[in-house]
Amino acid sequence: MLVFATLYTCLLAGFCASDSLADTIVLKNGRKIVAGNIVESDGKVTYQTPAGEMSIPESIVDHIDKNDFAYTSADAARSAAASVHVDAAAIAPTTGYDTIAALAVHDAAIDYEYLARLDNQARFGAAIDIAKDAAAHHAAAQFLIRRGDTNSAIDQYKQALVFAPQNTGLLLNISVLYLRQSRFTDAIDALEQARRVAPNSADVAKLEGWAYYGANKVDQAVSEWQIAQKLRPDPDVAQALKKAERDKSEEETYREGETAHFDLKYSGAATPDLAAAILAALEDDFNDIQSQLDYTPPEQIGVILYTDQAFADITRAPSWVGALNDGRLRIPVQGLTGVTPQLAHVLKHELTHSFVGQKTHGRAPTWLQEGIAQYMEGLRSGPSAAALLQAASEGRPPQFNGLEGSWMELSGEPAAYAYAWSLAAVESIVDSGGMGDVSRLLDRVAVDPSPEQALEAALHENYSDLTAQTIQYLRHQYGR
Ligand SMILES: [Zn+2]
Repeated sequence: MLVFATLYTCLLAGFCASDSLADTIVLKNGRKIVAGNIVESDGKVTYQTPAGEMSIPESIVDHIDKNDFAYTSADAARSAAASVHVDAAAIAPTTGYDTIAALAVHDAAIDYEYLARLDNQARFGAAIDIAKDAAAHHAAAQFLIRRGDTNSAIDQYKQALVFAPQNTGLLLNISVLYLRQSRFTDAIDALEQARRVAPNSADVAKLEGWAYYGANKVDQAVSEWQIAQKLRPDPDVAQALKKAERDKSEEETYREGETAHFDLKYSGAATPDLAAAILAALEDDFNDIQSQLDYTPPEQIGVILYTDQAFADITRAPSWVGALNDGRLRIPVQGLTGVTPQLAHVLKHELTHSFVGQKTHGRAPTWLQEGIAQYMEGLRSGPSAAALLQAASEGRPPQFNGLEGSWMELSGEPAAYAYAWSLAAVESIVDSGGMGDVSRLLDRVAVDPSPEQALEAALHENYSDLTAQTIQYLRHQYGR
């Protein structure tokens, strides 16, 4: 039987672990079981482990900790931002917002002349004119956001803030957009400005917590979320706070190292030499991925080196998980004294996830994330090509729309199959149009309504074209 040899390595080594999310069952005796697919019913708790399905009586279970790892903290910030709703009334309470919005955006376009007129009136400083100007720019920004044009939406808020620098509605909205783009420092600046006007805003504290968390400043994230919880308790914040507090207590004793693009923390189990070697390898990887994907992450990327035990305690990840990327790269390095070839693969794979996640504002489908990460770490389809071609000839070609979401439910062969097709698809894209096509595709993924629409916009292909192209590529490149 043919197997997907290389891809099992990827799975078992576990550095694709961000797709293998898991929860923790905490027993009354204090023991913890890390598992996936936890189902509670009929007095039993059933769960999946790498060894198969297990079940235990509910009576011995204290509670279940749910995990929610995301590729980037931008993802987390994005969903957090979605829960902060700043409506038009908060921006321009004294104006008839709907009337102004209808003048600012009509016939599926922004009326820039109207906006310029309002800007001119606002210059004289009358409160009502400033409010009208804010309302119009907010309407224009919301229109641009629906079109996926975050940069231009930010420009609209910036323009409105020229005349209304103390409008907290505008400040919250612009900081949400900065968070989406992983521009944490800009978000913090806008939020600090909002705080001076509205010191007791729970939304300011909540968003600032996400901004600090994204900027790898866990201490400040914890204190912001504590403030937010005092002002207005919120279950999302409670969960984020719990996770950040676990990080904070572990990292208190850690040493730090910094380079242009990375902020590294490590425990006493790692030597300064190892930390320096890892930073040097990451800097090389950064430069390579930066030029290949034509993208520069706007902020330093956090990296944490763990001992194996601390890694399991903090990430609550299964014991077979090698490393994680949940916005920071979390890498267990027990017993290592230098960058081994396997660690080098792990570093580049996980770092690629950070680039792809940030370039697409957290919108990349899983097949594209994993395809690019495997490609960048240097894997190629040779060892799995025969199995993939056979699967295709048996009527099991890849179903890319089924591989867009979480791969958490996949295990064993279906997962290996998913990784293998994803790598082959990315290889075929690079083969036909170079890395420039991959980069363009990622740019469209960031703004288009669906990954398939992005594929059509960037490469003039739909999923069935991509399937045919992938199969043809495998035959041509690796066929006998
Ligand atoms: Zn991966």
